[in-house]
Amino acid sequence: MPLVSMRQLLDEASKRGYGVGAFNVNNMEQIQAIMEAARETQSPVIVQASRGARSYSQDKFLYHLMLAATELYPEIPTVLHLDHGNSVDTCKSAIELGFTSVMMDGSLMPDGKTPSSFEYNVKATREVVEYAHARGVTVEGEIGVLGGIEDGHGAGGTGLEHVTDPDQAVEFVEKTGLDALAIAIGTSHGAYKFTKKPDGSVLKMDRLIAIHKRLPNVHLVMHGSSSVPKDLQDVINKYGGSLKPTWGVPVEEIQLGIKNGVRKINVDTDNRLAITGAIRKVLFETPEKFDPRDYMKPAREAMKKVVAERMTQFGQAGHAGDYASISLKEMTKFYAESAVAAK
Ligand SMILES: [Zn+2]
Repeated sequence: MPLVSMRQLLDEASKRGYGVGAFNVNNMEQIQAIMEAARETQSPVIVQASRGARSYSQDKFLYHLMLAATELYPEIPTVLHLDHGNSVDTCKSAIELGFTSVMMDGSLMPDGKTPSSFEYNVKATREVVEYAHARGVTVEGEIGVLGGIEDGHGAGGTGLEHVTDPDQAVEFVEKTGLDALAIAIGTSHGAYKFTKKPDGSVLKMDRLIAIHKRLPNVHLVMHGSSSVPKDLQDVINKYGGSLKPTWGVPVEEIQLGIKNGVRKINVDTDNRLAITGAIRKVLFETPEKFDPRDYMKPAREAMKKVVAERMTQFGQAGHAGDYASISLKEMTKFYAESAVAAK
C-alpha cells in the first residue's frame, strides 16, 4: 500500500485504544530496522524525519527509501512524518516531497530555539493545516514548550518551564483545526531527561490527564519519550563509551498516557543507544574488522529489537491488518466534509 495519512493511523488507534510509536530515521538501516520490527509484530507504523535528518540524507534519498519500504512491506500501513517543522515553508516543502504528515512546531520561532507567542503559533499552525488538509496530509501541532535540544532544535531547559496549559490547549485546537497535539508535560529531547526515576514532580502525567478530559477527541502526542533503559546505556559504557547515568520516561507512564488519549509516542534516543552500543561492541571485541556490514548488521538488529519491544508495549502490535488504506485524495474529502459539518 502507498504511504498513508497519519490521521487514519491515529483514528484507528483511538478506536481500539492503543498507541503508535513514531521512530526517527536518517538512513537505510534505521528504516529497515523499523519495517522489520513492524512486520514481525504486525504493526502499523510512523516513520519520522527531522529537519536534521532531511539535510543529512538530502531528503530525496530518504523519501525514495520510504517508497522502497512500501513496496517491500505492502501489508504494513506506513506514515512518513516530518518531525518538528520549524516554519510554514519547511512543512510545505515536506508535503511537496511526499510526506503524508507534518508537524508544525509553532511553539518556537523559526530559529527553532526561541519560545513563540500563542498568536504566532496559532497563525503558523493554521496556515499549515489549510495547506496540508487540502492535500489530505495530517498536521501535528505543539502547545507548551518541550525541554532539551534535538538535532539543534529545542529551547533547552528541563521541560518544566513551559508546561501546557489546558485552557490554552483547548483554544489552540479550536483555532487551528489540527489532527494531533503535542503537549509539554516535563519531558525533554535527548538522552539526559531526568536525573532520577521521574515522579509526578517532574513528569506531569496529571496535566496530560487533565488535557485529555478537556479534549477527549484529540490525538495527543508524547515527545521526548524514550525510556533510556539502563541495559542500553550499560552496553555503550562497557565497550568504551562514557554516558552519565540518566533516566527516561518509564514505559508504564507511557502506557498510562495511552489510556488517556496519547496516540503517538516519539522515540529516538533508545534507538540511537541501541545502534551505538552494538557498533561499539563489535569494534571493541574484534578490532581487526573493517567491513561496515560487520557492525551495521548487528546495529540494525539491535534497533529492530528495541522498536519491536516498544510496538508491543504501546499496543500497536497485531493491528497492521485491521484496515485498508484511505488515499490522500479521499482524505481531502474527509477534511472538506468535516469543515462543512463544523459550520
Ligand atoms: Zn520532539
